[in-house]
Amino acid sequence: MPYELSRVVWEITSKCNMNCIHCGSDCSCVQKGEELTTAQCLSVIDDLADVGCKLIFLSGGEPLLREDIGTLITSITLHGMKVAIISNAYLVNEQTIEKIKAFNLLAYGISIDAGEAYLHDYIRGLKNSFEHIDKAIDLLLANNIVPSIVTTVHKLNYNQLPLIRDYLIKKGVKIWQIQYGDHIGRMSKECQITEAQYLEIAKFILETREKYSNHFVNVTGADVFGYMNEMSDKLHNVGLWNGCVGGILVAGISADGSVRGCLSMQDDKYIEDNIHNRSFKEIWLDKNSFKYNRRFDCSMLTGYCKNCMYASICRGGCMRAASIDGGRCSQYCLYKIEKEGFSSPEQARVNFSKQELFDLYNQIRKLPEQFLLD
Ligand code: SF4
Ligand code: SF4
Repeated sequence: MPYELSRVVWEITSKCNMNCIHCGSDCSCVQKGEELTTAQCLSVIDDLADVGCKLIFLSGGEPLLREDIGTLITSITLHGMKVAIISNAYLVNEQTIEKIKAFNLLAYGISIDAGEAYLHDYIRGLKNSFEHIDKAIDLLLANNIVPSIVTTVHKLNYNQLPLIRDYLIKKGVKIWQIQYGDHIGRMSKECQITEAQYLEIAKFILETREKYSNHFVNVTGADVFGYMNEMSDKLHNVGLWNGCVGGILVAGISADGSVRGCLSMQDDKYIEDNIHNRSFKEIWLDKNSFKYNRRFDCSMLTGYCKNCMYASICRGGCMRAASIDGGRCSQYCLYKIEKEGFSSPEQARVNFSKQELFDLYNQIRKLPEQFLLD
């Protein structure tokens, strides 16, 4: 097989019981587009097994909102593939935990966006959501299900990382992925971290990996953290960065059936086709699919990446970050920062006053007064 699929992130529903300010998929309580039926999903699972897929991440929206989730997970495991869930954990409780335990998951991914409950609730748009997560983590651990935490950083919660770390250590959580929010979906450009904050987060990840190695099994920057310098090589478990593997080793399936090299590539130009039109297997095996990676050449790069000495290896960094403004050049790059410094005085800023953040975020959703007071 020319391209053996390793893993898939599959958004099985766009419906969500939360309303996060940074949601890249712009999910809400209303379903978007024509979601795949149970029969279509089962056929996708057959196809994924056929093309060699080893691991499926079921995400959303909130995957537990899909009533046939148990049927889908049973089919995945019967095919010999591993499965993990990426969830907001709101529906994990005493009533659902036995069912979740029976799923035999590799991990249960949960988003935590702040160490202070009120701020997490504000970002998630749902009161008491932090309290739910707190209980969910206890339930998962008590039932030997591995919780794996994802934190999406933007200007508001940039300072929360040490608090989240303390919280995870206290709870006994050992897996943590840190990423930043791009200005896609509901996330505004003004709220996105600066280059200087990006550098500081990379340092924080490194420090946590080194100092707290007796607690954490894995703390990692997502693929958006890199590239090609001494620091970047230590941020991930995979070692040296070798370019985006979307459409080569990984794929993404959206709730409406569209197939991309990775769900992170939000621009519609990265949709290869839709399962409502053609089977996943046909799309994956089509020699004309995923050309941007399967037939990469350096002329596809733009901006600083175009003339970078690492262009042919790095290929412009993570396609999510590289393609966000229509080109192919990572918004942030540790190598570039090391060589060139920050691109503007604004991008060199690390600290923002509470009043600045209050003014910025109030335009999106009214921040609680508590934010200014504590
Ligand atoms: S400048 Fe671009 S190609 Fe060079 S290391 Fe950074 S992201 Fe990669
Ligand atoms: S787009 Fe980014 S997250 Fe997706 S496969 Fe490529 S490098 Fe990884």
